[in-house]
Amino acid sequence: HQALPVAQLRVQYPALAQQVNGVALAYLDNAATTHMPAQVRRAMDEFECHDRANIHRGVHTLSQRATDDFERARTTLKQYIGATGVHELVFTSGTTESLNLVAQGLWAAGPDKAWLRRGDRIITSALEHHANLVPWQQAARMTGAELVVLQPDAQGRLHLQDLQALLTPNTRVVAITASANATGERPPYEAMLQLARQAGALTVLDAAQAVSHAVPQLSQLDCDFMAFSGHKMYGPMGIGALAGRRDALERLYPLRLGGDMVEWVTCEAAGFAGLPARLEGGTPNVAGAVGMAAAAHYITQIGLEPIDAHVHALRAQALAGLSAIDGITVLAPHATQSALVSFVARDVHPHDIGTLLDERGIAVRTGHHCAQPLHDHLGLGPTTRASFALYNTAEEVERLVAAVAYAMEVLQ
Ligand code: PMP
Repeated sequence: HQALPVAQLRVQYPALAQQVNGVALAYLDNAATTHMPAQVRRAMDEFECHDRANIHRGVHTLSQRATDDFERARTTLKQYIGATGVHELVFTSGTTESLNLVAQGLWAAGPDKAWLRRGDRIITSALEHHANLVPWQQAARMTGAELVVLQPDAQGRLHLQDLQALLTPNTRVVAITASANATGERPPYEAMLQLARQAGALTVLDAAQAVSHAVPQLSQLDCDFMAFSGHKMYGPMGIGALAGRRDALERLYPLRLGGDMVEWVTCEAAGFAGLPARLEGGTPNVAGAVGMAAAAHYITQIGLEPIDAHVHALRAQALAGLSAIDGITVLAPHATQSALVSFVARDVHPHDIGTLLDERGIAVRTGHHCAQPLHDHLGLGPTTRASFALYNTAEEVERLVAAVAYAMEVLQ
């Protein structure tokens, strides 16, 4: 594959050129948030400087330009995730809001009209981020449905036949991740969604960790809802999307009731607008949408394949280096399409490793990574996680491995 021109790309990221604690920053916390290149920041600034106005229904020129910018961003992102004529995309504040919109949208219409009812089954997995678990716990509580959690094997892998065994005629929702943020595990989500759809369930895919390098394509999936965030794909914070089949999105009761999402309103009642406005009540984050679309353009221009190959090569290098250190165990070493390494260190608390790494300018994340049940299931305490982006280098990974080896020497 073609190598990425990383030095050239890094010029667009001033944050990466700084020193932390007197050393060059090695930013390896990209699974939490990626940085934004100049192209993305410029696109947002252009909107703010020239077109800023509230969208829809404004007859004046700026309002029309802002509306066009917003709708163009929607089109760009739909293309990015392989949406076809049967799909629609609504903007949200991020993956968390998208998943809440789905979970709450399936019960909030009330006991007569909601998709979820007493006795139904909801399936999610133990690999999920809390954002794809807690909203389903609430959905189960509010409806009397039963929440069943698909458990991984001892290596943290999900198996198709285990999902098959949990599917019942009254399973109404299956919600899984495309890429687990805590371990880097990449479940066979295509086949899982297909199986779930065949069983009559609505299917939900958490694509937060996949959209920057291994973008799930709606056109090729049995996916009713897909959630993702701008800030994990070189775009801004506070913006994200829920995309999916139009007929599935139409089942959702809106999360945000108010302006811009209604057709008519009397003192007693209101009629909701059609998609996508129906699920986008209130003034949206237009600059965010513009920035997220610019990020999709940016990624596409560089090329998804070389980006995926690059982060995978860094992950392989980190996996080899860290596994060779006495006392270090990397989780899910088998994972494909993973852009991160999570590891446990014998007799050393990850917080101490994280602190020592920060002293050396290396930014990693420590803790449970919003996936407490997974850690419980695997019998693990907190872990240390290094995660890679298109702008990271082999030299940064070398520094990581050397610093972890040093940490184990002095802390163990
Ligand atoms: N799901 C996964 C797999 C994630 O990694 C994250 C972010 N760590 C989320 C959901 C939540 O995304 P956000 O914080 O952008 O809403």
